[in-house]
Amino acid sequence: MYYVSTRSKNHRLTASQAIAQGLAVDGGLLTPEVFPKLSHNGLKTLTDMSYQQRAVYVMNPYLEDFTASELSSFATKAYGPDKFDAREVAPVRTVDGNTHCLELWHGPTCAFKDMALQMLPHLLSASLVKNDEKKTACILVATSGDTGKAALEGFRDVDGTRILVFYPKDGVSAIQQLQMNTQEGENVGVCSVVGNFDDAQTGVKKLFSDEKLRAELAGRGYFFSSANSINWGRVLPQIVYYVSAYCDLVKTEKIQLGDPVNVCVPTGNFGNILAGYYAGQMGVPIRKFICASNSNNVLTDFLRTGVYDRNRRFYNTMSPSMDILISSNLERMLYELSGSSDGEVRGYMDQLAEKGRYEVGDAVKGKLSRYFAAGFCDDAQTQRVIARMWNEHKYLIDPHTAVAFDVLDQYRAETGDDTAAIVVSTASPFKFCDSVLGALGVTDLREGTDILGQLSELTGVSAPAPLAGLAGKEVRFTDNTTKDHMVDKVLEMLK
Ligand SMILES: *Cc1c(COP(=O)(O)O)cnc(C)c1O
Repeated sequence: MYYVSTRSKNHRLTASQAIAQGLAVDGGLLTPEVFPKLSHNGLKTLTDMSYQQRAVYVMNPYLEDFTASELSSFATKAYGPDKFDAREVAPVRTVDGNTHCLELWHGPTCAFKDMALQMLPHLLSASLVKNDEKKTACILVATSGDTGKAALEGFRDVDGTRILVFYPKDGVSAIQQLQMNTQEGENVGVCSVVGNFDDAQTGVKKLFSDEKLRAELAGRGYFFSSANSINWGRVLPQIVYYVSAYCDLVKTEKIQLGDPVNVCVPTGNFGNILAGYYAGQMGVPIRKFICASNSNNVLTDFLRTGVYDRNRRFYNTMSPSMDILISSNLERMLYELSGSSDGEVRGYMDQLAEKGRYEVGDAVKGKLSRYFAAGFCDDAQTQRVIARMWNEHKYLIDPHTAVAFDVLDQYRAETGDDTAAIVVSTASPFKFCDSVLGALGVTDLREGTDILGQLSELTGVSAPAPLAGLAGKEVRFTDNTTKDHMVDKVLEMLK
């Protein structure tokens, strides 16, 4: 199987080339030419497998230049009991009769980014070897929180890689900062940057385009690479948990093999829900993809009207991983829905770059309304949902997950569609203690990591070990710089 750019489909790459390269040279996203199919029997076989085995089975046909035994070894390392605190890796919890919650936060950093960032480093490291790359990949990350820590954990001590994370001094929570500053591993570096996320992001972009720096580092045996969600190696591992969730519902007899389900996904960059759509293309009987947004509801409008318009107010919400106005992975969706029309996609992306707006044609609009539903939920409602889920079901959820539960409720009320639904839960509530405690009516919040204990005491739910253990960990990184001096930090860290 080959990969092509969403903006010019004539140039084909192998899987390992696509993963090593990250982004297509024309700025498009590398995407499989065809989707392998899971037969009825295939799904049945998967039902009796462990998560690790399911990962190998689902990913194998996409990765022709990898062997099954390589993939098995990656899956064992990525999703083992030393990394995930649930044997099922991505357990499905039934909330009421036909509402099920897929928990994607049992990994080392307690957010769903682990599902992909535990696997990507192995895929990338092997892809570099397969393409005869002798230099060490230096992964540069600018982060507003979750991604930085998940990337550090994923890449720590992975052969052929170094990882450097820059986070904004004023843009991450106390717990997120501590998570990064206590990071273990021989190949990791962390540095804070004066300013906000934009300052860190602009600084990292400048590093990527600094020719002089690139030449200097090439001499030292390094080249720059990125771990962001446009890399195919991050999308592919996400397809697995949709297949896995469906199989778990069959196995526990919540549904019969072949029954349709709906999925509802709290969405930012559109990577997670896109992976769900791909699982559907492979043969998982998913009827509707329900896209849940917070007040930054650019996707709600787009999926309902076919008009994408980023010219709007930006809100900082209590579900910060969804505070996004440009969803990069939507480009892959447009490529599928336009019937692989690279010219059409290029046209939309040019308009987005020039005017911040485009309107899709009628054929794409028709498919959008057939496959997708969309809705959004503001912060006040998000808090009410957290409180209601706790009071009615004794189920503690984070703000991102609450947005999805609310949008599913809205969808059911509007359409009367009562198909069994999988709500995708993307973060542990303990990552957002302040918002969750606030939703439960607590106003006097404890400082720093003490807030974890406060939420535990109130609910009787224990904090995940990676967060509970933070207080006693050694702080390894205290460096701070300005966005104009990041280059010196890179040179210092890659001595
Ligand atoms: C990244 C993230 C999202 C958004 O996922 P996308 O793939 O960008 O749509 C939602 N919730 C949490 C907690 C996240 O970290």
